[in-house]
Amino acid sequence: MLDILRSIVQEVNSATDLRSAMEIVVERVQKALGSSACAIYQLSASHRHFVLRAARGLNQESVGKVRLKLSEGLVGLVGTRAEPLNLDEASLHPNFQYFPETGEEKFHSFLGVPVIHHRNVLGVLIVQDKEAHQFDEQTESFLVTLASQLAVVLAHANATGAMRLIQQTGKKRHVTFEGGAGAPGVAVGEVVVIYPLADLDAVPDKHIENIEDELAFLVKAVRKVKRDIRAVSIKLSSNLGVEERALFDVYMKILDDTALTGEVVALIKQGQWAQGALRNVIETHVKAFNLMDDPYLRERASDIRDLGRRILSYLQETQREKREFPEHTILIGEELTPADLGAVPKGRLAGLVTLRGSRNSHIAILARAMEVPTVVGIDIPYKQMDGIQLIVDGYQGKVFPNPPPELRQHFDAVIREEKAMERGLEALADLPAETLDKHRTPLRVNTGLLSDVARSLERGAEGVGLYRTEVPFMMTDRFPSEKQQREFYREQLEAFAPYPVTMRTLDVGGDKELPYFPIKEENPFLGWRGIRITLDHPEIFLVQVRAMLEASAGLDNLRIMLPMISNVTEVEEALHHIHQAYYEVREEGFDVIMPPVGVMVEVPAAVYQARELAQRVDFLSVGSNDLTQYLLAVDRNNSNVADLYHAFHPAVLKALRSVVNHAHLENKTVSICGELAGDPAGAILLMAMGYDELSMSASNILRVKAAIRSITMKRAKELLEEVLQIDSADVIQTCLNQALAEIGLETIDTRIH
Ligand code: PEP
Ligand code: MG
Repeated sequence: MLDILRSIVQEVNSATDLRSAMEIVVERVQKALGSSACAIYQLSASHRHFVLRAARGLNQESVGKVRLKLSEGLVGLVGTRAEPLNLDEASLHPNFQYFPETGEEKFHSFLGVPVIHHRNVLGVLIVQDKEAHQFDEQTESFLVTLASQLAVVLAHANATGAMRLIQQTGKKRHVTFEGGAGAPGVAVGEVVVIYPLADLDAVPDKHIENIEDELAFLVKAVRKVKRDIRAVSIKLSSNLGVEERALFDVYMKILDDTALTGEVVALIKQGQWAQGALRNVIETHVKAFNLMDDPYLRERASDIRDLGRRILSYLQETQREKREFPEHTILIGEELTPADLGAVPKGRLAGLVTLRGSRNSHIAILARAMEVPTVVGIDIPYKQMDGIQLIVDGYQGKVFPNPPPELRQHFDAVIREEKAMERGLEALADLPAETLDKHRTPLRVNTGLLSDVARSLERGAEGVGLYRTEVPFMMTDRFPSEKQQREFYREQLEAFAPYPVTMRTLDVGGDKELPYFPIKEENPFLGWRGIRITLDHPEIFLVQVRAMLEASAGLDNLRIMLPMISNVTEVEEALHHIHQAYYEVREEGFDVIMPPVGVMVEVPAAVYQARELAQRVDFLSVGSNDLTQYLLAVDRNNSNVADLYHAFHPAVLKALRSVVNHAHLENKTVSICGELAGDPAGAILLMAMGYDELSMSASNILRVKAAIRSITMKRAKELLEEVLQIDSADVIQTCLNQALAEIGLETIDTRIH
């Protein structure tokens, strides 16, 4: 059964659109189970009907015609109850409804299972038999297993089909893909697909005009692969038997113009670029081999793949992206890295879309800092999207490919509204973040990129609450030297002096990887991260701290902060190193003072030991991004659980309040540098809890300042008490939205009415 299941899923995976995916399912399931009929009913786009979409054993004319209301018939019952229904005599069931056009009167037994994706019923898969019998348990569990896997494939095929339809019908159709809101803002631009090199599956489609060039690239690449094969065959000839030597001949034949290469040429002539044409041809052959019953022939799939990969690497070598970035570039990729963003020339990056990740992934944080509208965790057929026009709605987490003119007009109006709002906020830059009853809270910024500095200063930031030192480390191809680091750090310290600059020691691991220091772990967020790495590598830690101290000479505005602390020993060891570096640097003649040192509270253990930690350092700073993920056991990077990640979860709010209270018992200041501080409602609650400083991305400073300046501390404290009585994050969010509306804070609404 497992083999059959695997092969059906594999076949369905290779379908180019939803319709053929469904055809494959009904055909293969009916055959595998030997049932009289098999059919799929799909939930209609309006969510009002189930429509018969594919069938075997039923009259084909009824496909597309039979439709049932949601609660109608046995199909409706399976869909609404979201559970299987197994009947030996379907006609005796009170919900039974007969559709003469299907010709199903000859069937007695019925087994239906729902197809569910992320809690949504997409359709119902049924099998029927002429004999009146209950389907056995094995058949039922087979169908349930198949439906659960099909749900993902069908959802994806649905998206791919929608994309094809837009390509065929041009701008006449309006299709929306929905993901998560990564960074607010609306962008209109042209898609550039980012894909990893040397990976056939990742190659996107691309339409080309210059067919001759592509053909020349292909010929050259194939010639080089043939040369390599010949060389290997000669080198190994004395050690190889006849059979193995024959294999090399087979490879050469496959590469002939009449075989594989010829097929790639044909696709290029239709306007596909060489890499995309190669991917298509290899995929088709690999699939065909994979479906063969003979294990020897199945193995040949890997030979074809290998040849494909070799040709691809030569193609990529010659075609090495002399990548053109359009004026309004929208990058789309499975995952995007800071280096991908850095490759786009200044001023051209309009928007980002990533298939993985969620709102709290570091790429989304970076996008917010750079004010680039972003959608994350979206299931979208991105390989077909290179070069198309796209609207990115970073407020609602939606994208609209090839938008029709009315949609463009709608979003152009949103962009104008955004600009007007920005202009209104700019007037606040030089005013303090002070409540109506005169309570002041310093607003600091989170920085990493150099571009953050100018933006922060323009908006009146009072220093840096979190400098993510790993960001400049990600831009180099090896650990930066002490001198290089001193230069990065000096720039930050000088730009903000005399305000403090809080530098966090290197925080890599989790989802932050240095290309030259790869860490492969099963469970990276619970693994070797932050301080755990730097304490294991004192040479890295000491060089970094020395560079920070040296950079602070004469400015004296440095603060050092330790990430991912989960016990007091780590703090003591880190302090020991910092003191060592301090004495060394002074001895070497730098006139520096010992900077305040702080601990980040970002794991639950640190919440419960906040007081003990505060006794050992000068300040605490809460990293609410990680604290939320660890308290709620929700990977901040995983789009499957993004809905469960909620910084207004009552448990998170209670933990945040407990940290301030404990730090204040030790007379230590406590700040917060997670994304919550940059949310106007979050900022109001944190201020009411007693947080001494709020640190956020420069893009949020003015909005948070507007919120603080529109409320009294008295009202903020009342609001805090109100929300602390509520036991649900969603209700808290609604209550806060209402409070913001009452104080007259404007928000952008991108919905189409
Ligand atoms: C945090 O975890 O809240 C934090 C500020 O650090 P980062 O987002 O860089 O992990
Ligand atoms: Mg963190």
